[in-house]
Amino acid sequence: MPQIKAAVSHAHGAPLQVQTLTLRAPLMGEVEVTLKACAICHSDIHFAEGAWGGKLPAVYGHEAAGHVTRLGDGIRGLAIGDVVVVTLIRACGNCATCNSGKPVLCPAPAPHPGPLTAGDGTPVEAAMDSGAFAERVVVDQSQVVRLPDDMNLVAASLLACGVITGVGAVVNAAGLRAGQDVVVIGAGGVGLNAIQGARIAGARRIVAVDVTDDKLAIARDFGATDGVLASDDKPWRAAKKAMGKGADVVIVTVGAIPAYDTAAQYLAPGGKVIMVGMPHSGATSSYEPVRMAAAGQSMIGSKMGDIVIARDIPWLVDLYQQGRLKLDELISRTWPLDQINEAIADTKSGAAKRNVIVFD
Ligand SMILES: [Zn+2]
Ligand SMILES: [Zn+2]
Repeated sequence: MPQIKAAVSHAHGAPLQVQTLTLRAPLMGEVEVTLKACAICHSDIHFAEGAWGGKLPAVYGHEAAGHVTRLGDGIRGLAIGDVVVVTLIRACGNCATCNSGKPVLCPAPAPHPGPLTAGDGTPVEAAMDSGAFAERVVVDQSQVVRLPDDMNLVAASLLACGVITGVGAVVNAAGLRAGQDVVVIGAGGVGLNAIQGARIAGARRIVAVDVTDDKLAIARDFGATDGVLASDDKPWRAAKKAMGKGADVVIVTVGAIPAYDTAAQYLAPGGKVIMVGMPHSGATSSYEPVRMAAAGQSMIGSKMGDIVIARDIPWLVDLYQQGRLKLDELISRTWPLDQINEAIADTKSGAAKRNVIVFD
């Protein structure tokens, strides 16, 4: 069985250790992908810090792209050498949830035990069904989407999570129509994608809300028409002034409770708050139900942009190849796996853009 280099978490809050693990062969319905790139997401950092629990030891990493190098039995539509994006969205394809168009919510358990073990034979968790801070992964075929052979794999890795979560929140969860007004709270990795999703979908005004002028300037590069500092007194006033009215859609892309507590303040009557950012488990938010009920407003949770990867990722690749979806501009720096702790520290320092681990 192949030995691979992977970044392993042995204790929440401790640095990851790059070590050799054993990766079993793909079983029925699984493929092995040799990775070219894996982006670092804030979710990886939350897991590594223990914010959401989870088994240890574990390999995080879930925004990846590479080449198919082995096939299990029963694989259709994929061949050795195919260029693919690897996502954490494992869906059985047969249950009521999958068939209602929400494969991101598929409740079916994984059909096989995880693929990773340490040298002494103890299992190592491939977190988020991925374990992609590693040279190779074995994943369910439902988690991968084939890309054009000439697709840039470093850019493609971003399509696995941050891009689909942000764009999907706008086009899938909110169902934004051309000419509507959008507020995006948080102009980080997901927020910038909500902003460019709103631009692609034809929003009228796109107001970014964040804590620094630097982030608001980057937000404008991705399509924001206006920027408001979250530190302003009642920032929804400035946002409503920019739009001339309340927002049809507010996308909350940060996990900060104050952002959730105040999100409905930005809304027009009939508007929707889309809940994307994930606070720590147990954190609660408060809002004024009577105002939202009387104004016909709603709060809607959105996981992974309600994405249907086989439908939406080829669409996004096409937009990228037309120059309408920015991916290269989302990358702040690439790093080797051996420097993953430095790359994570850089992401935690608040950089808006993605750091990407690149494998040789
Ligand atoms: Zn992610
Ligand atoms: Zn299912």
